[in-house]
Amino acid sequence: MPELPEVETIVRGLKSELVGQRVKEFRFLSPHLEKEQLPGSFQPATYKGRKILDIRRRGKMIIIEFEGRLGWLVHLKMTGQLFLTEPECKIDKHTHALLKFYRLKKELRFRDIRKFGFLNCLDLTQIEGKIGNDLGPEPLEIDLASFKRLLKTHGKKRLKNWLLDQKIIAGIGNIYSDEILFRAGLNPFRLAGSLTDREATRLYRAMKRVLKEAIAFKGSSISDYVDASGERGRFQERHQVYAREGRLCPRCRQEKIIRKKINGRSTFFCPGCQD
Ligand SMILES: [Zn+2]
Repeated sequence: MPELPEVETIVRGLKSELVGQRVKEFRFLSPHLEKEQLPGSFQPATYKGRKILDIRRRGKMIIIEFEGRLGWLVHLKMTGQLFLTEPECKIDKHTHALLKFYRLKKELRFRDIRKFGFLNCLDLTQIEGKIGNDLGPEPLEIDLASFKRLLKTHGKKRLKNWLLDQKIIAGIGNIYSDEILFRAGLNPFRLAGSLTDREATRLYRAMKRVLKEAIAFKGSSISDYVDASGERGRFQERHQVYAREGRLCPRCRQEKIIRKKINGRSTFFCPGCQD
């Protein structure tokens, strides 16, 4: 599933091409997205003639703002893709929505093989309300004191689950939680409330560093993730523990990376140098 660095990469790519573009046509290509619209959603035709004013990320979600306070709230979930392509490029059966512009040759497509993703056509007030209720602070924006407070407030959660909980902190998923905990040298089974002040600072710094590096490498392409121009990311080549079960730990070079389940989620870590 695309996490913060992947979604951020997509948003930056789309933003540079689409802000200022006026919508010529928006339509659904399959009944699936149409059926999943929330109450109060707008019809695709409402978007015609409106300019895109902004594209931003919140957690793992993408918000596209159109003129007149109209918006899209997009979550890619497992296999969703939101990318620009040439109109000649063949549309396959997994492409569920299409957006064309007056002054841009490329078109924007929403493609999703497993159909867990969503694209909701709401006004900005509805979008902001929805996000405000569902998501904790942004990991790249939160300050150290607030971060430490959140560790205490949700102290009974294991670190892995703490990082995955979008209501505590938004945008981190299975890959980056493992990479962050490895970087911080912390065992994923530890309780969030058990961290010393120094350990909490280490976790905070590791979180920011890992996410920033991953953005610099345009995210991790494990399965279907591609950026706004359909390119794969490169951060998967730099993973230290994620999906590296049985390999020698790149830090201590003594132990092998192991895989354990925490709340049903696979967690990769070094039993030697993460404590
Ligand atoms: Zn190790």
